Amino acid sequence: MTRTTQAGEQETVDDQGTAGPAAPARHRGRRWLLLLLALVTVLAVGGAVWLQGDGDEGVPIAEGGPATIAPTTATATPPTPLPPSPEPTTPPAFDRTQLSITDPASSWVVVNKARPLSPIDWAPADLVPIGNGYQLRAEAAQAMDAMISAAAAQGLDLGVQSAYRPYEYQVGLFSAQVSRFGEERAEVQVARPGYSEHQTGLAADVGGGGCDIESCFATTAEGQWVAAHAAEFGWLVRYPEGRQDVTGFKYEPWHVRYVGVPLATEMQRTGVPTMEEFFGLPAAPGYPG
Ligand SMILES: [Zn+2]
Repeated sequence: MTRTTQAGEQETVDDQGTAGPAAPARHRGRRWLLLLLALVTVLAVGGAVWLQGDGDEGVPIAEGGPATIAPTTATATPPTPLPPSPEPTTPPAFDRTQLSITDPASSWVVVNKARPLSPIDWAPADLVPIGNGYQLRAEAAQAMDAMISAAAAQGLDLGVQSAYRPYEYQVGLFSAQVSRFGEERAEVQVARPGYSEHQTGLAADVGGGGCDIESCFATTAEGQWVAAHAAEFGWLVRYPEGRQDVTGFKYEPWHVRYVGVPLATEMQRTGVPTMEEFFGLPAAPGYPG
């Protein structure tokens, strides 16, 4: 096996195990080193390919993703700022203190069996005629006219049956009811002088559909229209059903009270049916004392 030395590496590779101890040992060491290098290279390249492959796998998704999602994200991004804009619109929370609820001249004045007008014989200064001899304060008169016109446009015959009632008139009306029905029953039907919303010039009784100032008004098309649309014109059905313990009056679908569109629509929006509840006032089921 002298060829081993001459033949060199070619033979050494073929005869690894059987080759002489000294020289083969060196060769073996080199071979291991080469193998190790090859292995490292294979691993490195393989790893790189593997990593790149992994990346490539992601790329179609990543590329397809960003490409497809990008427009969505771009489109989705503007709507995201948009919702916040309506929210800043919500924060302008309704200011329940912007108008007085005690000043009889305020369109928000709350008059009930615990809150008489003050002074008790107060009278508005801006009454205007609204037909049939009735009067309302200018702003309420305009709002009543608008409401009646809107109802008429729907083919509904809405009319005013009572409006402003001065203190003196209420004195006569109340005493007439007392002598007819007794004080207890009179006080459920008619307000004491100085305690009537009609004295503010902001309240009216409306009728139509063959029913005037009666509970049947609630069942007429006119009454149902008023219940649904009065707020759009600044009016409340002031004595709603099921709130006698709050307002002191049984359900009066015909009695409307002008408070202005902002308050009326806010009460409708929030589903708070009485001024007492909306302003956090004590219930006024009856006269004190
Ligand atoms: Zn009334």
